[in-house]
Amino acid sequence: MRLETLGCRLGPIRGFCLLLATFVAVCLTIEASAGAEGWVDQRAYGPLVCHADFPLNGLEPLLGEIAQIQQELIRLLEIPPTNERIEILLFHDRSSYRRYLAQRFPNVPYRQALYVRSAGQGTVLAFQSDDLPVDLRHECTHAMLHAVLPMVPLWLDEGLAEYFEVPAADRLNGNPHHSTVKWWMRLGRVPSMATLEAKQSLDDMGRSEYRDSWAYVHFLLNGPPAARAELVAMLADIRSGTPPGQLSQRLGRLTPDLSGELVEHFKTFGQ
Ligand SMILES: [Zn+2]
Repeated sequence: MRLETLGCRLGPIRGFCLLLATFVAVCLTIEASAGAEGWVDQRAYGPLVCHADFPLNGLEPLLGEIAQIQQELIRLLEIPPTNERIEILLFHDRSSYRRYLAQRFPNVPYRQALYVRSAGQGTVLAFQSDDLPVDLRHECTHAMLHAVLPMVPLWLDEGLAEYFEVPAADRLNGNPHHSTVKWWMRLGRVPSMATLEAKQSLDDMGRSEYRDSWAYVHFLLNGPPAARAELVAMLADIRSGTPPGQLSQRLGRLTPDLSGELVEHFKTFGQ
């Protein structure tokens, strides 16, 4: 099967995410492999089906919380629920995860967590660690978006994954990016959406691009209602096969100073 998309979280030690074009020949045989991998626990939460090589006792709240992200995506982006099953493969430690990746993805550089999509099937792979909650929220956000959208602009894909990777209670004010963004803006460094839109490869997405993408997603979801409405309209175009254009140009018809709107948003948000 052809591997269609790949994604991963840019964590503190992960380096850059993966380039799709490099891995077009990698195959996934999830169904056939499940028995051989000896999954000892399986749970279903909404569209998520989790297979683990360890007992999932204690992880139920996290899995339930991740399923709730889909409800937030439906509410905020006005996208439909997915009819597609999303597989989560969880490993009890880094070594077993690495062994699995080496077997199934021998050409893929190691990353702490992965989202892959193959023949209409989204799969998230991760292992138990302190970062597991953030890894799963991030990768499953990618999976839930790609389950209902034929494409997602790269910066928006990562910005949304960064937005939803923190617990729900932290999404408005508690994301680690928040204070950094406000600090940079005080120093006059204001990101440009058009610059983010020009990034075509995950190799072009460094730490600052992830942070800037998060900032625009926070603005779009919590700023002027017209901005979110334009995002919703663009995603509807993507779903219907209508060329969506660039969001910065669409928003430019609403405001002559998008970067200024972003600064104003973070200046006044939560006050
Ligand atoms: Zn990502």
